[in-house]
Amino acid sequence: MATLLAWWREMGVDGATDETATDWLARAERAPGSGYALVAPFDGSAGGEREAQPLVARSTPAARAPLQSPPAASREAIAPARSAPGPAAETPRRFPTAAPDAAALAAREAARGALDLDALRAVLEQFDGCALKATAKSLCFYRGNVKARLMIVGEAPGRDEDLQGKPFVGRAGQLLDKMLAAIGLGEDDVHITNVVYWRPPGNRTPTPQEVQVCRPFLERQIELVAPDILMTMGGSAGNALLDMEGGIMRQRGRWRDLMVGGRLVPAMPTLHPAYLLRTPVAKRLAWRDLLAIQERLLAAPGR
Ligand code: URA
Repeated sequence: MATLLAWWREMGVDGATDETATDWLARAERAPGSGYALVAPFDGSAGGEREAQPLVARSTPAARAPLQSPPAASREAIAPARSAPGPAAETPRRFPTAAPDAAALAAREAARGALDLDALRAVLEQFDGCALKATAKSLCFYRGNVKARLMIVGEAPGRDEDLQGKPFVGRAGQLLDKMLAAIGLGEDDVHITNVVYWRPPGNRTPTPQEVQVCRPFLERQIELVAPDILMTMGGSAGNALLDMEGGIMRQRGRWRDLMVGGRLVPAMPTLHPAYLLRTPVAKRLAWRDLLAIQERLLAAPGR
């Protein structure tokens, strides 16, 4: 047990998932992995936490695999995996020749000139400074409303997103839509994007350089959307935008301010839906974060 805890800590799992300890030995039938979990309303139920429900997925070999392979499962908790890799690109692509700093400077210059999101998309389509573009099929810019009060930022497009050219359209995106519906929001109420605009090969986590090169575009995007609230999902997006120190389990649920274009935007880091798909018991934490966002949206006058 001590070795396992030390290993988790090393992997960045540095916080408990609840405020009070649970004696799972006394509640063995409810213990994580026993086939039951507490779930939040975006599982499809109408109310808050409800009675334990059987987790059908746990009985499948694929769902059991992480238990047989703890290192991979815990890695996914920190850097959520996405769908399986797609086929390799057929046409040769140009690779960036500039160093990341020069590419980020070029990105800042190009982004500054974009006066609306259509112009920003056109700039991104022309931009060759991010290596990810060479292997991705499509640019995944955003989905949702150009003037949404809530802007949501994830990590990177996966296979489904790359195929459709839109963020969060795969399984994680479907869960995200359910989560939003649980606080009364539809696609027209939100603006959804990622910290990088092209799918990393093999769905790996984007490198700091790739994030750095895309950041000027993301900042300009935030300026143009001018949301009342920003929500980052997962450790990677939280670290990229909010300079979080410590793992996402410790940092989620705490409001911060992000300065963009001379304006402070309240930002809430929460868990990534891909992680929630693998760890349903953590949905109640994300539910708390969503309720905090809903409260803040309702408290502030709408547009
Ligand atoms: N995961 C992300 O972080 N972004 C997407 O668009 C899809 C899955």
